[in-house]
Amino acid sequence: MSNLDRQAPLTVCGGRGFVVAEPVRELLSPRRVQLGESTEVRRLLPNLGRRMVGAWAFVDHYGPDDIADEPGMQVPPHPHMGLQTVSWLHEGEVLHRDSTGSLQTVRPRELGLMTSGRAISHSEESPRPHARFLHGAQLWVALPDAHRHVEPHFEHHADLPRVTAPGLTATVVLGELDGATSPGTTYTPLVGADLALAAGTEANLPLDPDFEYAVLAMSGEVHVDGVPVLPGSMLYLGCGRSELPLRAASDAGLMLLGGEPFEEEIVMWWNFVARKDEEIREAREAWMTSDRFGEVKGYDGDRLDAPEVPAAHLKARGRVR
Ligand code: MN
Repeated sequence: MSNLDRQAPLTVCGGRGFVVAEPVRELLSPRRVQLGESTEVRRLLPNLGRRMVGAWAFVDHYGPDDIADEPGMQVPPHPHMGLQTVSWLHEGEVLHRDSTGSLQTVRPRELGLMTSGRAISHSEESPRPHARFLHGAQLWVALPDAHRHVEPHFEHHADLPRVTAPGLTATVVLGELDGATSPGTTYTPLVGADLALAAGTEANLPLDPDFEYAVLAMSGEVHVDGVPVLPGSMLYLGCGRSELPLRAASDAGLMLLGGEPFEEEIVMWWNFVARKDEEIREAREAWMTSDRFGEVKGYDGDRLDAPEVPAAHLKARGRVR
């Protein structure tokens, strides 16, 4: 999906200054953002007090929305660079097209992974006809400097590894969890896992103490390390944990996001990740005036115009705490 914000700020993220070295329980509230005409998302990252979790730099949660009589998701062609996008659905389906020629319907609990590398453009839409409900998450992973100019490509993985315990099924979406590794290509040590808990489950999820973690609640009633986390909210957990206590009062769906703290400082604006704001301005210009980001074929509609890059210089990054 895309950041359709017309007032997109330039944001500096990453670096050790933001990372909390010890276990914490920091509840992040979502910001409601309109995405096109018919979809409203809850944005968890970047958040006022927290911008990244490992290499995870952007998290939107949407639905469940009844789109039986609506177009559903309609995100016109737009560019990306310096990141990977992860599409993860609990209900519904999304039709992905991109400038490398991909045409793929992504369904619940299948990984749609797009590596933008130096430049890609794509569209995402609810196909016609589509399922009644749409519920999912859109996440971005920042690429490290050594790999941020790789060739753009798209991966679709329908068969993902699972880790199970009584009442808990963890699907490894990206990276590694408890020895199980997703087939999706990664460029930094990280994990994204879908956690399905049955009502009444108490479980301890094994974690890597060197990773920074957060949990996104998508459905149900769940306590994460004793903290109730409502659907559409995220609990930041810091580093230094070897396990995570989970308790589900009802059937519940969560996403565990984690990774090695992202050491490099990045600049994010609109749908781009870079290192300097000049790169951002060049990329914006290239999207508006050149074919650097390629062409999305087959989308019925206009492509998205880029908003203006704020004129102000980037403010120095401050510590979170
Ligand atoms: Mn996008």
